[in-house]
Formats: sequence, C-alpha cells, structure tokens
Amino acid sequence: MSTLTQDFQLIDFNNVGLFIDGTWRLTGSKGTFDVINPSTKKVVASVPKGGSQEAKEAIEAADKAFPAWSKLTAYERADYLLRIRDLLLEKQEEIGTIISLEMGKAFKEAVGEVVYAASFLTWYAEEGKRIYGETIPALDPSKRLIVIKQPAGVVAAITPWNFPIAMMTRKLGPALAAGCTSIVKPASQSPLTALAFAKIIELANVPKGVVNIIVGSTGEISDEIFESDIVRKVSFTGSTAVGKDLVKFSAKTLKKLSLELGGHAPFLILEDADIEKAAEGAVLSKFRNAGQTCVCANRIYVHEKIATQFKEAFVRKTNELVVGESINEDVQVGPLVNKDGLEKVQEQVKDAVEKGAIIETGGEEIPELDGYFYKPTILSNVNNDMLIMNEETFGPVAPIVEFAEIDEVIKEANNTEYGLAAYIYTTSLENAITVSERLQFGIIGLNDAAPGVAQAPFGGIKESGYGREGGHQGISDYLEEKYISLKI
Ligand code: NAP
Repeated sequence: MSTLTQDFQLIDFNNVGLFIDGTWRLTGSKGTFDVINPSTKKVVASVPKGGSQEAKEAIEAADKAFPAWSKLTAYERADYLLRIRDLLLEKQEEIGTIISLEMGKAFKEAVGEVVYAASFLTWYAEEGKRIYGETIPALDPSKRLIVIKQPAGVVAAITPWNFPIAMMTRKLGPALAAGCTSIVKPASQSPLTALAFAKIIELANVPKGVVNIIVGSTGEISDEIFESDIVRKVSFTGSTAVGKDLVKFSAKTLKKLSLELGGHAPFLILEDADIEKAAEGAVLSKFRNAGQTCVCANRIYVHEKIATQFKEAFVRKTNELVVGESINEDVQVGPLVNKDGLEKVQEQVKDAVEKGAIIETGGEEIPELDGYFYKPTILSNVNNDMLIMNEETFGPVAPIVEFAEIDEVIKEANNTEYGLAAYIYTTSLENAITVSERLQFGIIGLNDAAPGVAQAPFGGIKESGYGREGGHQGISDYLEEKYISLKI
C-alpha cells in the first residue's frame, strides 16, 4: 500500500477548493455556500460556489485530457486506479470523518463506505483489461467483420449525498478504466468528501483534467453539461423526479444516460423464515444510514403465523441500536440529512398514525440532541392508504404488514412504480427461487440484507432507472461499439 500522504490532511476546512484541470479554485464565480453538520446544525465548511463558468472550464479540461488518457493501455490506467484505491484505503478514517460530519452517516459505517468505494477501483482496474472486441464470420469470403470497443468520451457523473464516496467510485472506476475523462458534480450537501477525493486524484498523479470536481449552482452546471456536445454520457444517481428531468435534458444532444434512481423495497418474511435472521436483516436493511439508502426496506411484509414473534425480535433489536452524533465511534444510527428529511419522516408517521397505524417503538424526535434526529421507529397495523406504503421514506421508519398467501404478498410487493431492490427471507429452496423470479426488481436479497458488491450488477427496473453499475456489466455504459468491415 502507498504511504504517499503520510500525515497531512486531505481537506483544509478553512480553505476548500473546487478541482478543475488539476488546479484548485479557492473562489467560485457564484460566491460560496455552507455545508451543515446534520448532527449539530453547525457549519462544517464554506465551499466555493461554481456555476456555468466552472462547468465550461471543467468540460474543456476533460476534453483536452481525453486523447492522451484514452490512448494509455488498460494496464497503465489500472495502475492509476490501484494507486487511487491505495490512497483511499490509507485515508479511510479521514474520509469517514468527512462523510460523517457533512451528511451524518455513523462514523464506523462511513469508514465502511470508503472501503466499499475502494472495491470498485480494484474491480474496474481488472475489468478494464477485459474489454474484449469481436470478430464475426462473414457471408462474403472477401470480408472480415470486426467489432471494437472504444471509450465513450467525456462523461459527467452526478452523485447523491447518501453515499458520497461510493457513488463516485462506482461511476469513475469504470469510466476511467474504459479510457473516459470526467466531470463530477456531487450533491450540495456532501461536496467535501468529493473534494477530498480530488486531493487523492492529485496525490495519485492522475493527469490534469482526467477528473474534475465542481459544485455550486446545480441548475447552471447541469445546463452546461446537458447543452454540451463534448459530454457524451451522463451517469446519474439520485431521485426519480430529477432522473426524469435529465431524460428530457439529454434529448437535445442524445447523450447516453444511466439512471440509478429511487426505490421502495419490499422485505418479505415467509412462513418458513428463520425469524432471528429475518429480524437482524430487517434492522440492517432499514436502519443503515438512518434509513437513507435507495435499497432500504421500505415495506416489511411478514407471514401472519410468525408476525408476533418477528415483531418481538425486530423491536428488541431496534431498541438496542445506539443513536447519536454521527462522529462518535459507538453510534450506529445518526441524524437525517437535513430538516426536509426529518419533516418527511414526521409527516409519514403522522399520516400513518392518523390512519390507524400502531407505534411499536420510536415515533418521535430526540429533543436532547441538537440535530435532525428521529428515533428508529416500527409501525404495525399499516395499510396501503398510508403515504409510507407509497412514497420513498428515506428515514428510520419501518412499517409492518401481515399477509397470509404468497400470491397475495407478491402482488402487493410488485404494486409500486419502483423496481430497485426486494428482499426475501425463507428457508425453502422452492420459495427462494420462485419468489425471486416473480418479484419485479433489479436486485433480490435472498436471506441477505446487504446485497450490493462491486462484482455484481446493481440497478433497477421500472421507475428506478436503467443501466447497471458494478459487475462486468458496469463498464459497458462507458464504451461505444464500432463495427469495421474489411474488404480484402
Ligand atoms: P437528488 O435530489 O435527485 O440529487 C441527486 C444529485 O442530483 C445531486 O448531486 C443534486 O444536486 C443533483 N441534481 C438535483 N437537481 C438536478 C438537476 N436539475 N440537474 C442536474 N442535477 C441535479 O437526490 P438526493 O436527495 O441527493 O439523493 C437521494 C435519492 O437518490 C433517493 O431517491 C435515493 O433512492 C436515490 N439513490 C439511488 C441510488 C441507486 O443506486 N439507485 C443510490 C443512492 C441514492 P444538489 O444536491 O445540488 O441538488
């Protein structure tokens, strides 16, 4: 592992800069904006606010860097990726601290995210070496038909705050390995993690302009990206509403687009499930990142014959969770990301209770803490008229619904416009296979509450988006196929 960085810090909180063409911009054309710690509501740092000007410059820099970067061999690009990976791992605690301060992820979980982020670089450093072409038998004996794969060009990555480092490497890993250069626009809530990553890019001696990271006026930056003829592909992770807007914006220049959008995951506990394991899985899936993951269990369906036992185990394990200021090492559940996130949760719980839901545990804020905290909450006696059964919650609230028949629960589980992740807990091999096949989701966690890994394709169907990240599939979006017909 590299020891290049030794003791110095990736970010000076009093002197944050945007990263364009390998240089640091300490002032923004639009002024500055503050990043707020959701655990304390205090300012973490002030960040230069970029706009059209910075976006144009970043696009030009990526364009200028493209010819040389795309001409490197896959082996040379892999060396860069592995150097970035080593530096990330070396600085995992510092980046974990930044993540925790700016968006409220519990510190240990944040460090885990950095390790997860690094795994995409390891995977794509290797996968870049396996971008195989094709030769096709020709009907005409004087012809040779060849297909080659080439980098798509300059790509833009637009990322969310809930996985500020992993969503970046899940895009940049395959993009850089394929030979693309890039502009990254992280979420306004979590720019510091992205800019710390820019420092790593610099330390790894990645050529200038290969990775540019800008934040600020989202509308202006987005307009420049989508109006540009240079940017050939946009990879977006975020809400379904914004994803739909980007589809419209992309029409003008017909950009390639991949969309990792929202979810409303059903979590099915069948009659033959191991109840303790199901309760453990439900806690992990629901309360990880304070319930702010796209794949988190949003609706828990439990068979009526085991509902009482499951509820007892789920409430018991939930009450054991340590909630508090995210930077503390023993904390497992931090705050919601901001006031809007907290209000959405409050509204969904209020609506559910008014319509007959019972609070099994939680159901309130934590007044003794200053930030946007909400107690891990379990609701029973839930029905489909409640907001929580229809809208993404993005918070630590678990609604439980009982069911009697497998056919009925599959129908209910599929009854959503989302199609990202679903979970099944069962000990029956037959149920495991048949229910997995019948659920309309891109990812199935089968007795597994955390299925996301770098080696497998991650992505949704229906209004959860299109395209896949991770696995050998994840690199194809960053490549163009070219067919060459050779007449001899
Ligand atoms: P969001 O509001 O859609 O924002 C995501 C990113 O898009 C941010 O960088 C945001 O910038 C930017 N953005 C907003 N409006 C834009 C526009 N008009 N043009 C271009 N960019 C724009 O989502 P979020 O609240 O940050 O993230 C939570 C959502 O992401 C949830 O729905 C979650 O399910 C989804 N998510 C999906 C996956 C997946 O893999 N499927 C993974 C993680 C999260 P600003 O911050 O500056 O507004």
